Amino acid sequence: MIDLRSDTVTQPCKNMRRLMSNAMVGDDVYGDDPTVNELENYSATLHGFDAALFVTSGTQANLLAIMAHCERGDEYICGQSAHNYRYEAGGAAVLGSVQPQPIENEPDGRICLEKVRAAIKPNDFHFAKTKMLSLENTIGGKVLDLDYLESARACTKKYALKLHLDGARVYNAKVALGVDIKEISKHFDSMTVCLSKGLGAPVGSLLLGDEELIAKARRIRKMLGGGMRQAGILAAAGLYALKNNVERLAEDHANAKYLAQRVNELPGFDSSAYQVQTNLVFLDVNEEIKIDDFAKTMFEHGINITPGYQGMRLVTHSGICRDDIDVFIDKAKEYFMRCGLK
Ligand SMILES: *Cc1c(COP(=O)(O)O)cnc(C)c1O
Repeated sequence: MIDLRSDTVTQPCKNMRRLMSNAMVGDDVYGDDPTVNELENYSATLHGFDAALFVTSGTQANLLAIMAHCERGDEYICGQSAHNYRYEAGGAAVLGSVQPQPIENEPDGRICLEKVRAAIKPNDFHFAKTKMLSLENTIGGKVLDLDYLESARACTKKYALKLHLDGARVYNAKVALGVDIKEISKHFDSMTVCLSKGLGAPVGSLLLGDEELIAKARRIRKMLGGGMRQAGILAAAGLYALKNNVERLAEDHANAKYLAQRVNELPGFDSSAYQVQTNLVFLDVNEEIKIDDFAKTMFEHGINITPGYQGMRLVTHSGICRDDIDVFIDKAKEYFMRCGLK
């Protein structure tokens, strides 16, 4: 299957599986799993934080960060299109009693810092207490540059807000910017990393922060039912991913550029309104194309896509090579020929 739906579909490679099967394990709720401890220590150092917590998912990592930084009745500022606002089932509000204050993202993914300043609530009992600003990098495949991160840090310092990064795809940003990961992470009080997207681990995310934050997050993780036992089998995959699968993301970025260029050969497909910066390709599809029928036919040819008209998303990852993209374009062209479109 040529699966262009997401980078979450990546399969663990042979070497990763070998490390997983040989991993030393223990009961991590007792703090006894040597491989989880190794991953947490290794990743804390790698990202320049005091401590780390290995968690089940990016969603859980974000929720823990929000609940550890904020108390009931506090709020966090985030982008209107932030994952931890739109795509996490309202967890911060439902489970944390923490109110989001979304602000429209700029076309390049930034949140205008003037708008952040204006959204910070006065110290008055009418208002929720503004505690934190949450950024996302990459956001919709777009990279926030280092200058912006520095100004965001200055802004949050000035107003005594915590600064959190949803770094589900922060390694795509790191590779696109060509910098050490610490050049990004050093600006933040906390950061998440998804090991299970482009980095290719089957399960797991990291939350990074100081000792106090991580201790609090560990307690909340238990409350949420996220305490895991012999999780070293999964942590071993995470260690492998961080050590071996980072630089190869450049291939995914190059393939995404190639894919974005080639989809324009298809009638009614147009990627020109979107710029490819990392591994996500967006395109618009003319309403005259029966996109669900197209997707169904592609599926019959072993190609899996999520259909859509405006901003349809295709994703490259370690399971997609240039030949796969050529196969997709060829099969799509055949489909349109049969429909009498060229
Ligand atoms: C995927 C993603 C998450 C959530 O990760 P899951 O492991 O799927 O829960 C959070 N934030 C961003 C930006 C993501 O892309």
